[in-house]
Amino acid sequence: MPRTQNVLAAQWSPNGEALGSLDLTIPANQVFGLNVFSPAVQRQRLPKPVYQQLQATLARGEAIDTSLADQIAAAMKDWAMEKGATHFTHWFQPLTGSTAEKHDSFFAPTGEGTAIADFSGKELIQGEPDASSFPTGGIRATFEARGYTAWDPTSPAFILENPNGAVLCIPTAFASWTGEALDNKIPLLRSMDALSKSAVRALRLFGDSAAARVFTTVGPEQEYFLIDEQYYFERPDLINTGRTLFGAKPPKGHELDDHYFGSIPERVLACMLDVERELAKLGVPIKTRHNEVAPAQYEVAPVFENSNVGCDHQQIVMQVLQQVARRYGLVALLHEKPFAGVNGSGKHNNWSMGTDTGDNLLEPGDTPHDNLQFLFFCQAVISAVNKHQALLRASIASAGQDHRLGANEAPPAIISIFLGAELLKVFEALESGSGEGGTDKGFLGLGTEVLPRLPMHGGDRNRTSPFAFTGNKFEFRALGSAQSLSLPNTVLNTIVAESLDALSDRLEKALEGGASLEEAVPAIVREAWSADKAVVFEGDNYSDEWHREAESRGLQNLRTTPDALPWLVEGQTVDVFSQYGVLSQRELEARYEVQVEQYVVKVNIEAETAASIARTMLLPAAVRHLELLRAAEVPALVDETSALVDEFVNAIHALEAANATHQGDEGSIAHAQYMRDTVLPAMDAVRDVADRLEKIVADDLWPLPKYEEMLFIK
Ligand code: ADP
Ligand code: MG
Repeated sequence: MPRTQNVLAAQWSPNGEALGSLDLTIPANQVFGLNVFSPAVQRQRLPKPVYQQLQATLARGEAIDTSLADQIAAAMKDWAMEKGATHFTHWFQPLTGSTAEKHDSFFAPTGEGTAIADFSGKELIQGEPDASSFPTGGIRATFEARGYTAWDPTSPAFILENPNGAVLCIPTAFASWTGEALDNKIPLLRSMDALSKSAVRALRLFGDSAAARVFTTVGPEQEYFLIDEQYYFERPDLINTGRTLFGAKPPKGHELDDHYFGSIPERVLACMLDVERELAKLGVPIKTRHNEVAPAQYEVAPVFENSNVGCDHQQIVMQVLQQVARRYGLVALLHEKPFAGVNGSGKHNNWSMGTDTGDNLLEPGDTPHDNLQFLFFCQAVISAVNKHQALLRASIASAGQDHRLGANEAPPAIISIFLGAELLKVFEALESGSGEGGTDKGFLGLGTEVLPRLPMHGGDRNRTSPFAFTGNKFEFRALGSAQSLSLPNTVLNTIVAESLDALSDRLEKALEGGASLEEAVPAIVREAWSADKAVVFEGDNYSDEWHREAESRGLQNLRTTPDALPWLVEGQTVDVFSQYGVLSQRELEARYEVQVEQYVVKVNIEAETAASIARTMLLPAAVRHLELLRAAEVPALVDETSALVDEFVNAIHALEAANATHQGDEGSIAHAQYMRDTVLPAMDAVRDVADRLEKIVADDLWPLPKYEEMLFIK
């Protein structure tokens, strides 16, 4: 019975009591933050002076001393053990883009054959996980081994539950013994500091003496697929690479648009509710959930948080999605392109800047003064994105992304900004001095003193733009679904810091020269706008005309990962990162090396998996089918099939040859180019024949679950 597994996949009964929504009037159901050592818990658990000292230290962004750490560690341990934790781990983000943990027991032997629970401030603050196998891009030779983790007190510790015990996770940074960053958190924190300094400096020029810190904020929208686990485990390609390397296009795709925002299947909703409950316990504030465009594709988005906590939480979201899905017999696919010909999954990175006094700096204001300031910060972003468009592109480059960007479902590899009609009108009026600011009152200093209130909320949207202004934030939409948010946000923070300083330099000079803000700011913004407006594009980013137009504007079109990555180490990248103390040249080179290597390794795993599936699963199926046709004596079909089988064998041989000897020095950019130019096309050629075979080989002989099964049976 060939279809049994489909029937099994479709049969699902509510697991546990997870269906339905909880009655939140029952205190036990209010789980938000239950497993987080949050400021509220700290206030309860720490002696008052200790708590106050901790908060004050954090507010000033200073390091925590050991005696303070000892008291915090003791409280944290007691809290965690009451919740069933037996172990703690320094939870960090190595350059692989995922998270790492090494568990240590709270219990230490006393020497008398017993053990006591012990957790000192020193253990809280610093760990030495060795961790010599993480990629370091040459910063740390394995013989020097030691890497250090350092507690990040600005991201709260949390408890990960498991049916058999719980673990206290302490967010940490990971550095080499020479102090170089080996992770994604350190540069992010450094970039947040840099942006804060530059933004506060600008705010002072606007007369704001209250704001002491500016935080960047991030609200990521995560897309993912859920498929039945039976199909997943029947597909070595999904297991090994996260995407299907074979699979003919199903008769039905997303053409009917019947999935987007459609009603959520019961099993999936049950899973989502459980995911959200687990995330709530971990203090991750989930806000929206819905079906996405592709069949079996969904999205989840939290309320935004400061970039550091938001990036940590995003890693937790990906982890929890994958763990909880299994409770429902589902597997969450986070790959950027799990199914060819079906929309892939991205991650929108909503980004803004907010002061510690509660103002969103990208929110158009109510007063002319506020709007001057808004235009100034907005222009800083436009100028930064224009100058560093290639670096932004590089910050989101990966093997998975190359199947998605520019494929008429995701923004192209060209970075441009969408402002929306209202805001664009404002900048254009400012530039032309026409006074036609899109409002009847005219526009700032051009016939009237009054800056119009910008009616931008709920304004128009352009889903094709990689970098769009959406009312009170910019939305960087080109991230891949599996990516860590850290690097793109590190880049954004750093380049905007630089651009703010460039504008502030000019403003400072003008103000010193006796100009008023109302005179100086429009002139400075106008000048910067004229220089950088080429990056602004309001039209359809998916169209061919845009590719031509972008080229004539001199915008970068870095189509593939090997094209983009070298921008991580370009001169202007090294300059801005070292000037702001975010990443040294050596640290950048290390990252570049790691990313190139990851690309090579990922494509290589795909290529070897493809060759093996083709030869050991698909070719035998095709040959058996051919035998059947021969036995049945249907010459027309025999000829057709045997021609395809020959073609398949040739394509497999070509792929195996491409896999056998690579060109380019191991892990070099030339090696990456070889993977792109030779290996990937050889894989595509094998797939092309395989997908045609899938359509003619007897269904009961075909060994891989088909697209229509994976995507539509839920
Ligand atoms: P859409 O799908 O229309 O883009 P969503 O509601 O799905 O909108 O997601 C919007 C995201 O933007 C949410 O994650 C939200 O938290 C985030 N966001 C809102 N304001 C800010 C801000 N000031 N800074 C960063 N992210 C923000
Ligand atoms: Mg969005």
